[in-house]
Amino acid sequence: MKPLSKNIIFFVLSILLITAIFSTYTLSGEKPKDVGISTLVEQIKKGDVVSIDVTGNDLEIHLKNEDQTKKQPSEKTRKESGEPLSELLTRYGVSTEQLQLIQITVRDESRQAFFFNILLSSLLPLALLGLIFWFVIRQLQGANSKAMSFGQSGAREVSTKDKDRVTFKDVAGAIEAKEELMEEVEFLKNPKKFVDLGAKIPKGVLLMGSPGTGKTLLARAVAGEANVPFFHISGSEFVEMFVGVGAARVRDLFSKAKKNAPCIIFIDEIDAVGRQRGAGLGGSHDEREQTLNQILVEMDGFDPHIGVIVIAATNRPDVLDPALLRPGRFDRQVVMDLPDINERLEILAIHAKNKPIESNIELRRVAERTPGFSGADLANLLNEAAIRAARHDRKIILMEDILDSIEKVLLGPERKSHILSKQEREVTAYHEGGHALVANQLPHADPVHKISIISRGRAAGYTLKLPVEDKKMHARAEFIDDLAVMLGGFVAEREVFGDITTGAGDDLRKATRLARQLVTRYGMSSNLGPRTFGEREEMIFLGREIHESRDYSEKMAEKIDEEINGLIQQAAETAKKILFEERGRLDAIARTLLKKETIEREEFEALMKEDYANKKT
Ligand code: ADP
Ligand code: MG
Ligand code: ZN
Repeated sequence: MKPLSKNIIFFVLSILLITAIFSTYTLSGEKPKDVGISTLVEQIKKGDVVSIDVTGNDLEIHLKNEDQTKKQPSEKTRKESGEPLSELLTRYGVSTEQLQLIQITVRDESRQAFFFNILLSSLLPLALLGLIFWFVIRQLQGANSKAMSFGQSGAREVSTKDKDRVTFKDVAGAIEAKEELMEEVEFLKNPKKFVDLGAKIPKGVLLMGSPGTGKTLLARAVAGEANVPFFHISGSEFVEMFVGVGAARVRDLFSKAKKNAPCIIFIDEIDAVGRQRGAGLGGSHDEREQTLNQILVEMDGFDPHIGVIVIAATNRPDVLDPALLRPGRFDRQVVMDLPDINERLEILAIHAKNKPIESNIELRRVAERTPGFSGADLANLLNEAAIRAARHDRKIILMEDILDSIEKVLLGPERKSHILSKQEREVTAYHEGGHALVANQLPHADPVHKISIISRGRAAGYTLKLPVEDKKMHARAEFIDDLAVMLGGFVAEREVFGDITTGAGDDLRKATRLARQLVTRYGMSSNLGPRTFGEREEMIFLGREIHESRDYSEKMAEKIDEEINGLIQQAAETAKKILFEERGRLDAIARTLLKKETIEREEFEALMKEDYANKKT
């Protein structure tokens, strides 16, 4: 509604301007003096009056000594309507002779006055109203035509011109993905070459991978490499309030694309429409099904030779309808993994290129410290670092900016204002010390990189542990040690202070979840054997996803609980044993933390090398 209000403001302003001009016009020159009838009669009797102009009931009086340069009467007055002027004057005692000396001109209410009176008093408001109506109606029509365009796809054509153009160079890592897509690029560049050989190029490519792994980026890069138009639409945009809109949009999108061939259609987040049909209770699945069917029909329908390639992206390939993955549709599937350390380094290098970064910075160290970060996380990390540098009024980004930002991205911002009491600080120091010490003593636990009792996000303190290398698989022994490390904080509080704080709650929740996964997902419990419990299923009920369906008995459920308890108990025992035997080390860590608040890896390792056997505190 913005343009409407703008129009009205403009309109009112111009009306004000016009009135202003008119009023200054009529104001120019001195106004005739208003006098009463009796004054007029007196003046007539004295013989001062030369002439009177009568217009309706208005009398304009010209006096003898009038300034002739002004084209205005000297005075004016009004009479009662209906009574002729001469009769009135006679009634006031003006003699016939005196009357004859005055030139009386009776005018029709002048045409000018008529014009102004009628126009200003009646036509102008009408015109005003009319204009306002016109503006409003025009707006409504605008909205209406928008309503009528529901069926249009609303796909955005992304420019592949110079500056915004993204190519494979801008996508770090993902070598296999790029290789797969290179074929499509070749085809888009020169469809004829392939057609002449009778080769069929897959028309659908599905990019799968967790959020932020660069799916959208890669799809744009394909368009950029091939230098063809790129139509971008998100799966959720197909689905509107009205049933049937999604299907209409799909039709429109494909017809638009065919006109622009060779080109790329990119359907982002296709799981929004491409979920398995029939899954889900109530709600919008009818509309989704129609939309999905239309996508399938369009994909089957178009000639593979015209040079339209459909790329879709999803981070939930498990929920997609199998019909989408059939040959002839999205039969080429490209997996985008989270980057490994070398890929992380490349991504960092790409995003560091246009930022002023300290020259001797070791991006590899950053890559080492960021396992599990996606490309988007890394881009965000460097951005946070730049913001931090700016807030410290520096012109370049230092290593400390980046390192601090890693922790910020992982754990939330530092909370300097969150001051712990002396007691809380001690508990936190022993809690984090417990995690760190257990991690240090267990062979399969990740090494400790940093311990801190400065609160961040929701945690009072934190222990940063990082794996030595990126791993895709984990062994049972690692999980068991991890559980003990998770419980290290809890056990330390219990053993040292004889009491437990709420600070351990989050650790316990994580430990319980991990233990449950060991038992139900990975078959890592020796008592229950190699099977999984519970089937992940996609059901949408009242907007909530329900994941688990039970495929085991009530008795089994009890056993699972027992197993989980056993694992956690065992982990607590392990932690307790370590903390008891190495109490000297634990005290040393806590003491150092209370003094310095943070311990970096080198210092921690030095601290652990010392011999505490004889130094009981
Ligand atoms: P997705 O679509 O998989 O969720 P995006 O393609 O939107 O992820 O990635 C988000 C951002 O992360 C990109 O704009 C880019 O800045 C960065 N990014 C992700 N992966 C990479 C990569 N492999 N190389 C360079 N930048 C990347
Ligand atoms: Mg995306
Ligand atoms: Zn903890």
